[in-house]
Amino acid sequence: MHRSLANLTLRIERTVNQRLLPALYRDVEPVHVEAAHLPGEPVPASEGLSLAYAPFQVGQPWGRAWSTTWFRFTGEVPERMRGGRVELLVDLGFERAGPGFRSEGLAYTPDGTPIKGIEPRTAYVPVARPASGGERVDVYVEAAANPRFDGTVTPLGDPDTLPDRPLYRLDRAELAVLDEEVHALVLDVQVLHQLALTLAETDPRHHEIRRAIELMFDELDVADISGGAAAARARLADALASPAVPSAHRITAVGHAHIDSAWLWPVRETIRKCSRTFSNVVALADEYPELIFACSSAQQYAWLREHHPKVYQRVAEKVASGQFLPVGGMWVESDTNMPGGEAMVRQFTEGKRFFAEEFGVEPREVWLPDSFGYTAALPQLARLAGFRWFLTQKMSWNQTNQFPHHTFWWEGIDGSRIFTHFPPADTYSSELSGKELAYGVSNFAEHGRSSVSLLPFGYGDGGGGPTREMLETAKRVADLEGSPKVAIRTPADFFTEAEREYPDAPVWSGEMYLEYHRGTYTSQSAMKRGNRRTEHLLREAELWCTAAAVQSGHPYPYDELAAIWQETLLMQFHDILPGSSIAWVHREARQAYAKLANRLDTVIEAALVALSGPGSIPLTANAAPHARDGVPALGVSPDAAAEAPDVAVRTDDDGTTLDNGLLRVRVGVDGTVTAIRDLVADREVLPPGSAANLLQLHPDTPNEFDAWDIEEFYRRRRRDLTGVVKLVVEADDPRVARVRVTREDRDSTYTQTISLAAGERVVRFGAEVDWNERETLLKVAFPVDVQAAHSSSEIQFGHVQRPTHTNTSWDAARFEICAHRWLHVGEPGYGVALVNDGTYGHDVTRRPPGDALGAQPTTVRLSLLRGPRYPDPDTDRGRHRFAYALVCGAEIADAVREGYRANLPVRRLTGAAPVEPLIEVSNPAVVVEAVKLADDRSGDVVVRLYESLGGRARTRLTASFEVAEVSVRDLLERPDDEVAALAPISVDGASVDLSLAPFQVVTLRLRPA
Ligand SMILES: [Zn+2]
Repeated sequence: MHRSLANLTLRIERTVNQRLLPALYRDVEPVHVEAAHLPGEPVPASEGLSLAYAPFQVGQPWGRAWSTTWFRFTGEVPERMRGGRVELLVDLGFERAGPGFRSEGLAYTPDGTPIKGIEPRTAYVPVARPASGGERVDVYVEAAANPRFDGTVTPLGDPDTLPDRPLYRLDRAELAVLDEEVHALVLDVQVLHQLALTLAETDPRHHEIRRAIELMFDELDVADISGGAAAARARLADALASPAVPSAHRITAVGHAHIDSAWLWPVRETIRKCSRTFSNVVALADEYPELIFACSSAQQYAWLREHHPKVYQRVAEKVASGQFLPVGGMWVESDTNMPGGEAMVRQFTEGKRFFAEEFGVEPREVWLPDSFGYTAALPQLARLAGFRWFLTQKMSWNQTNQFPHHTFWWEGIDGSRIFTHFPPADTYSSELSGKELAYGVSNFAEHGRSSVSLLPFGYGDGGGGPTREMLETAKRVADLEGSPKVAIRTPADFFTEAEREYPDAPVWSGEMYLEYHRGTYTSQSAMKRGNRRTEHLLREAELWCTAAAVQSGHPYPYDELAAIWQETLLMQFHDILPGSSIAWVHREARQAYAKLANRLDTVIEAALVALSGPGSIPLTANAAPHARDGVPALGVSPDAAAEAPDVAVRTDDDGTTLDNGLLRVRVGVDGTVTAIRDLVADREVLPPGSAANLLQLHPDTPNEFDAWDIEEFYRRRRRDLTGVVKLVVEADDPRVARVRVTREDRDSTYTQTISLAAGERVVRFGAEVDWNERETLLKVAFPVDVQAAHSSSEIQFGHVQRPTHTNTSWDAARFEICAHRWLHVGEPGYGVALVNDGTYGHDVTRRPPGDALGAQPTTVRLSLLRGPRYPDPDTDRGRHRFAYALVCGAEIADAVREGYRANLPVRRLTGAAPVEPLIEVSNPAVVVEAVKLADDRSGDVVVRLYESLGGRARTRLTASFEVAEVSVRDLLERPDDEVAALAPISVDGASVDLSLAPFQVVTLRLRPA
């Protein structure tokens, strides 16, 4: 038999596109259009409806970037449409392109009730089935002129640099009848055709399907598609009725819309995106009772509740009926590399608390499809927050190594495991196309052991979520020969089955490092600093407010702290803290961080005044978990610095020496540190001939995503900043000596300080940078004379070790790594830690390739600044301040202590008397991360602590107040037998003895007597 396969494909595609699709709608009737333009910020519907509307024509342009146009569409349903499925079709200027990321609208009734979103792939408003002609149509559409971004440098992300021209044109506004039979025929053909294309030409099923379509086309009169649609469908019925084979892979399809909480649009637009998509979803859920829509991010529900209560009411109804499913249980889908330990906890607890209070539901699956890598602290935290399962697909974006599993146990630094699944279709916004379904099956790594996978479907980010076409497709592929079986079910149903089927799934231990987007540890430096500062201010605020509440009855500011936490958590969203949003988003975040800092300072000062009472005794408040200068951890008392020799300073022709009896630091005339002698250990800290605290500039030109990526080739070119404009030795204070170096290079200015204080084995560094570089990575380098096989980086509640060599492609791919407050390298007997107060990106390398004899030094570098041009063309231009320190002779415990110290400066105050610490912990390996009052406002004190070194630790915790009852709780402060069994306690009055396993996090709840 002759074959003409390619010709048939052409015939099918052309017939669908040029014959069937144009026949979808009939009886077209134009409507009358009026419009009112809002150049500035959006207004509530009540105001939008009462704007002054003027006549507007289809074809007319509208919408300067970020403006809003309110359209009003009025008309009458003509008699000929009677009984038909009449829809108002609106094309805001979609240009038939992708499903989201452009203009969008929300349709309202004249009384301001949202109907559904208007998006490129769901651009209709139902007018129902009129019983007669003459029925009146009156629909308002709030249309947003959201600009498109294409990855190139653009002024569109900043309201101050917008061009003053309209971006869109109203392309369509008319009533028409949807021909449901033609609609069904299109879907029949598309499902079968897409399926056939995924089947081998050696597969008889491939030919059976194509032959069925061919025969149907042969008989179809293209001049009367509508009249022939029913017969055409009958022709395809057998091909569609043939059931899947028994071994067919089974896919759980879950409706979804990934809506980034800010990104290429400001937060205010996300609020509207949610209202449009969620309106769509509840409308679609009425029509398709089988639809289940998974929606994460408590924040997005909270926005809806505040700004669109009518939509929220509808969502709540659908949550109750099980069709709208809160998942994930986090406040937002946050980044997980950078949020601190307690913030990561609060992402879970704030999210879960919201879902419990609003809907009485508790999600059991962490839902993070899009975050840029996953911290090894997550399995424990998720399990302690009551989660069983974890979902992402982002690891499929790895540029170098393919992750080996799709369904597996993910094990964290403490040994806890969480059952994890990656949808093998490698997407979180599927259309349920034949190609995606087939790819999901062929890509699935667990065949033979597991037969199920999950697939989120629906357009995100302003695409409107699932469409009726997707739901019709799902019906057709539920049980279809040649296709995987697709069933719309809940993620919990999927995970329950997957876990039952595959209890001995493989284990992945440690972090899930994304081999991509490594620039996000550094881009938009102010986000990093703001996040770090706010997290530590929150720690202080909760600690001092709790102490003040327990010890002096000071009212605990529950609402204020919750509001500040929620805003902090929002800014940890996976495009805000990583620095990958437009200028508008980051400007608002910078302002928000400044306001939060002021509010927290106010809270802290009020609590400290209440605690210490009116008086004139100079006091120091130490919120750190370690004693400092004679002030106990978590206490307030006069400080008493330990006796230590002054710092001696000597300057000669070759530089300056600072010597405090513990360290002798040599600063060269070029302002770099050329030697550090550790007088305690009697060894050099730096390799001979080195320059430490050296600023280095690299060209930084990523291949694709500017703000997101650092490419490995950046390292091959660099320029060291050694030119000195001014070098000043500041030796007036015998307790601390300082060298201040000013450098100028191109358009930027750098002021570095190197200081050594009495009694410390720590060299402290400051850098003030007026940064005017673009596409340049600024690093500061510390070569150290230790042969380190691995580096240890602080993460939430512990640390991870990463090799310093590049033996395998996995090691080589980790050329930029994330660390929180400290990074440690060492050899047996000696180590150093580089601590910082607001940066995250690091790299650790050995001697460059080439000949070597003897020990290898290790170079640790901090990433300070970048200058990516997309999506914010002026990223990071302006002034920045950094502080970091080299802790010499550091064990991990020293790194932990100095990390807190660098981020929790003491507060000086005057008061009536010292304040005893509310909580004391006897073992320094056990670190108090949070002290707060319980979320249920009972007045119970909650103490969260963890084992910080990776070993076993026994400790005694003593409260300064009388304790009626102590219990071990989960992160949500609830009793949990499994959690309690992990941390047996014995209580004696106000003292609690407990043992912790490596990196174990324990939440204690103490009820004051
Ligand atoms: Zn995202």
